[in-house]
Amino acid sequence: DYSSPDGHDYEIQRDRVCLKDILGNGQFGDVHKGIYRDKDGNEIPVAVKTCKEDNEESMTEKFLEEALIMQQFDHPHIVKLVGICSENRPVWIVMELAKHGEMRAYLQNNKHRLDLCTLIMYSYQLSTALSYLESKKFVHRDIAARNVLVSAHDSVKLGDFGLSRWVEEQRVCIWEILMYGIKPFQGVKNNDVIGKIENGERLPLPPGSNGSVEDEEVVPPPKPARPQFAGVSPAGSTRNISQQSIPT
Ligand code: ADP
Repeated sequence: DYSSPDGHDYEIQRDRVCLKDILGNGQFGDVHKGIYRDKDGNEIPVAVKTCKEDNEESMTEKFLEEALIMQQFDHPHIVKLVGICSENRPVWIVMELAKHGEMRAYLQNNKHRLDLCTLIMYSYQLSTALSYLESKKFVHRDIAARNVLVSAHDSVKLGDFGLSRWVEEQRVCIWEILMYGIKPFQGVKNNDVIGKIENGERLPLPPGSNGSVEDEEVVPPPKPARPQFAGVSPAGSTRNISQQSIPT
């Protein structure tokens, strides 16, 4: 289910997308230039990331993760997701085309017409994108010129969300102190922790906390197909605590 929290269905019909030249090679397959014909018949230039058909299913899921992340953003300096073709193989991620491609190459090839003012403007535009991501509690984790694309001479956009992650508010250290040194999710593998959090599980409230889970500001990012957070009661939390070994 790749419909977004606002109900927008990101699945698009493959025959609305026409693939053109290869723009570059991605980790999962080639990236093509393309034309997307929307429902009103407008022809929109797009970039289409393809996932090689011989990739394992788990790789395909990993590939689609980027689209799941991108669909949550709406910012003038972040490459927008147009849609995905995921019902058949090969899976495609269709996104806004950045006409001038990678910023690194653009910087190198256009030195003569890139004055300091423009360079500062690029930096500023990216900082607004990062500030937006921070407001959504995301870290990009791979900010580098190679992951920035140039849409127009006066507009750069952050792309490539393959490595980005949603981060929970940095309150876990305080939790550890209030729990007298219990490690969060003790005994659970790092990879499994992510799944638990995505399923709505939260650390138990430390003893003596007054807030209820509903008061928590830590809200997981809207994510498609995520089971509804069932509102774990503090009583449920206590049960969790007792499952952990509390040092004496
Ligand atoms: P991956 O993250 O899967 O390895 P990239 O995002 O690095 O793939 O894409 C590979 C190349 O395709 C980029 O270096 C760039 O040249 C091109 N590309 C990717 N996305 C776009 C886009 N939205 N517009 C224009 N070119 C793009």
